[in-house]
This record gives sequence, structure tokens and C-alpha cells, in this order.
Amino acid sequence: MTKNATTMPEENKEIHIDAASLLTDLSETARFGGTQKGGICRLALSKEDKQVRDWLSREGEKLLCTVSIDSMGNQFLRYPGLDDSLPPLVMGSHLDTQPTGGKYDGIYGVLAGLAVIRALRANECKTRHAIEVVNWTNEEGARFSPAMISSGVFSGVFDQQAAYKICDRNNVSIKDALEETGYLGPIPCGQHPVRAYFELHIEQGPVLENEKKTIGVVTGVQGMRRYIISIRGQAAHAGTTPMALRRDAMLTAAHLTVLATDIARKHGDEAKATVGEITALPGSSNVVCGDVTMTLDLRHPDDKIVESMEAAFHQQAASVSEITKTQMQIERTWNSPSVQFDEECVSLVRNCAEEMQLTHRDIISGAGHDAAYLARICPTAMIFIPCRDGLSHNEAEHAEPEDIVAGANLLLETILKADACFDLT
Ligand SMILES: [Zn+2]
Repeated sequence: MTKNATTMPEENKEIHIDAASLLTDLSETARFGGTQKGGICRLALSKEDKQVRDWLSREGEKLLCTVSIDSMGNQFLRYPGLDDSLPPLVMGSHLDTQPTGGKYDGIYGVLAGLAVIRALRANECKTRHAIEVVNWTNEEGARFSPAMISSGVFSGVFDQQAAYKICDRNNVSIKDALEETGYLGPIPCGQHPVRAYFELHIEQGPVLENEKKTIGVVTGVQGMRRYIISIRGQAAHAGTTPMALRRDAMLTAAHLTVLATDIARKHGDEAKATVGEITALPGSSNVVCGDVTMTLDLRHPDDKIVESMEAAFHQQAASVSEITKTQMQIERTWNSPSVQFDEECVSLVRNCAEEMQLTHRDIISGAGHDAAYLARICPTAMIFIPCRDGLSHNEAEHAEPEDIVAGANLLLETILKADACFDLT
């Protein structure tokens, strides 16, 4: 076994993924939940999600992979290695989408993993570690909130029993949906060993495209915090209430939105503040607004800066509500600390990109990913490729075929390098 292992990197050197099959897989699976505008609506554990999962299992079986499902419906395809005592190298992402999602977010990472296994099989490539592809259940959080539930349970961030009880809008629980689709698997979620995890994904932002780089070597995920702000003023007649006597909740909300943006700008280019949702009551054109509920989302790669933005917002928001004579409550509903990916895995990706002469740059992910949770339990790295206009969570999401193929070949190369250099005794 060890003897084989030492000769393998040379033998495996000239392997490439089958570009045509990968592109066909992307367009074939886009039919499951395909929308008229060329996107995908494939909510987690829906009928369409079951179709694509069944498809993935069949493809795995064609490649003589062992297919296993865990108790959160996470789906693993295993290409066996020479040494069963070694934990597998795992690639993957998610096949669920937003209601008006695109064809690449998540899907690319799973299908590129499949393409890697296809290349290994076609070349009768022998690896020391088993190589696996995983499809994580409900990454998007569009049907069951929060996002990344199943990689979260897998990584010990969420409790499985609590996750099972989470319901969609029609009061269907995750557990019911898992049972209904036949994806309530027998393996306890989290008991599946992982030596290292590599996730390939579209950038979902404009940086790579702007800089004409093919590859983003993702070094980590920025810190994120989310808040619900409730503002209470007084509903009053728009024609008879003098401006000076108003307690206008909408006015407070407007000031707070500008304030959040100012605070982010003062904290440098990487700071972000977003008010993405607002509900104003009673919601009538001739009534001064009495109640507002709004969200705030703060992000920065450095948790200390997120902390400082939060403190500044709290302080200055208080004086806004004083001036507008409204009452305000700020509740933090989500805190996701920044993540630094494993240095060895990140270097592997960077070195392979360099050797393959792919243009690349280091990048920090602005969005959350399953990899952010996996990083808590195993060495993890991510690879980004550009997407047109940085557009994602949109039916118009697009990635260029040459970037798709380059990213998948980089994933293959990274996996082969990891296999050759990890766990040598
Ligand atoms: Zn995704």
C-alpha cells in the first residue's frame, strides 16, 4: 500500500476532468426545478430537490461509488481509497436553491466534485484516501431557516433534535420533509469522518470578474451579525399633525439606514452594512408611520471591527430616536464570527493554481457557506470562480464555461496533491 502511494503523484499527474460531461450535468440537472427565466427554484427537500438528489445517487452508482445518507439527509458519494484507515478527502456544496435561484450557486461545487470522481474512475486512478462528494441539505435557508442547517448539525453548531422541529411556511418540519422524500438516512449526522473539506463555488460578488482573475483562493469568511430593530412612534393624521409634534417611526428608520451606511464607510472598504427589509405600519399614504420593524446586517472580515460598528450604531441610534421622539429596540438575532480557513489547505489551492498557471488572488468570502461550519471540525478551504456581474441568488446567474472547467480542474489537482501529501507516515 505504502509502496503504491509513493508512486501515485507521478502516475496521476496528467488527469483532467471531462469538461463536456460537467457542462452537460449542469444543464441537465437545471431541469429539476428549472424556471422560465433560466434559473432554478429547488427548495430544500422539495419534489424537485428529491429529483436532483436521486439523480446524484444514480450518477454515483454508475461510477461505482458507495452512496450514503445521514440523519440530516446529507448525501455522500464515496470513491474508495487504497487505505481504509484514512478518513476521506471530501468535496462538495449544496443542490438546493433560492426560490428564484441560479444554476451555479452550490450546484457547481457538487457537480464539479462528481466530475473529479468521474476523472479518477476514467483514469483508474488510485488514491490513498477515499475521495467523497457531499450534498449538504438546506444550505440556502430559503425553505427552512436558518441557512446551512445540516452542515451546522454535522459540525456540532446546531442540535439535531431542534433542527428536526424547524418548519417551513406550511408547517412542514424538516423531519417530516426528510421522511417524505426518503432522505432521512440511517447514519447519525456528524459521525462521518472527514480528513479535509474543499468547496468550489462561484464568487457571488464582482471582485474576480473586475480583476480578470480566474480563481479566488478563499482564505476565510467574514464575520456577520444580524439585528431586528423595532421602532415605536405614533400613528397620526398626515394633514393635521404639525411636523414638530410628530413621532414618526419611518423618519427614524430612514435616519438609521443612513447612519448604518455612514458607519460602514467609516470602517473602511471591507465593512458592509445593509438594511434589507422594512415593514412600516399602518402603511397608509396619509398616516404618519407609527411602527417600523427593520433588519440590519453588519459584516467585516475582522470581528473586532464588526464589534466596533455595532457599538457605534447602538450609540448613535439612541440619539436619533431621541431627536425623533420615538422608542427603539435593537435585538441581535444572529452572530457568525469570522472564519480563517486551514493554512495548509489554502496553500495547497494557491500552489496548484500557480502551477496550473491560472490567474488568481486571495479573497475573503462575503457570503456564508457550508465550509464555514466544516472549518470548525476539519481542515477546510474554498475555491471561487467569477460569475457575471457578480450576480447570484438570481435567475440570471452565469459563469463562463472556461472558468467552470478551470475551477474543476483545480479542485481535481488540489485533491490529488492533498491525497499525496496528507497523512504520510
Ligand atoms: Zn451556495
